[in-house]
Amino acid sequence: MQLLLIGLCIGAAVCGYALYAQNGLSKPIPHVVILLGPPGSGKGTQAVRLSKELALPHISTGDLFRENMSQNSPLGQEAKSYIEAGKLVPDSLVLKMLFDRVKRPDSLQGYLLDGFPRTLAQAEALEQMLPPSTKLTVLELDVPDHLIVERIAGRLSCAQCGNVHHRLFSPPSIADRCDKCGGVLTQRRDDQAHVVEERLRVYHEQTKPLVDFYSKKGILQRVDGTKSPDEVFRSLQSKL
Ligand code: AMP
Repeated sequence: MQLLLIGLCIGAAVCGYALYAQNGLSKPIPHVVILLGPPGSGKGTQAVRLSKELALPHISTGDLFRENMSQNSPLGQEAKSYIEAGKLVPDSLVLKMLFDRVKRPDSLQGYLLDGFPRTLAQAEALEQMLPPSTKLTVLELDVPDHLIVERIAGRLSCAQCGNVHHRLFSPPSIADRCDKCGGVLTQRRDDQAHVVEERLRVYHEQTKPLVDFYSKKGILQRVDGTKSPDEVFRSLQSKL
């Protein structure tokens, strides 16, 4: 009797696996989510929440560059002058850094991109690199320029953990100290008003065309980014 039961269990397991594999379910379809939007539109804040919700790693090319700059790596040294001037880092450097990052095992089932792609060449390179079965979702946070400047001017970033506060909208409990890790909060050099203006100019010239690029493919979803972070998050969830 016991042997019969064991036999039945093994049989059921083998059949189950065969069905699973036959339906192509043995390899889950990777899901890549792109968050598009101007600097200061809330991509970083929303990416942290979405990454938890979707259980996908949050990959921010800006954070990767800042990590490299704080380690003074050759890549960080090369990127620094572009970033501090509000310019885009050349595509070749960004692509190599991003492709190395997405090769890591945590990205096998997909990832959430924050700050990438920022040029048509980057979008095309990403398309070439993704396996054809990938599900690609593009979410655009729509925020007008006059609000961007106000938002970025009050932004305070933690040098230690990257957490972001805002002087008006999410002030830290202790002045100039990060709520998450107690690190010192400072203004990013590229968040100074004159650099923000250049970043916005670059956004309209080089990144905004991606809205059209992804709209034409029918995969762009637009969300009003002027609402509160909770409302924006709910709208993003409803699009996924
Ligand atoms: P972010 O934190 O996304 O605002 O990025 C900060 C800066 O890093 C940008 O202003 C650019 O100088 C650089 N950067 C980040 N991502 C990219 C990208 N995909 N292409 C070119 N430059 C980038």
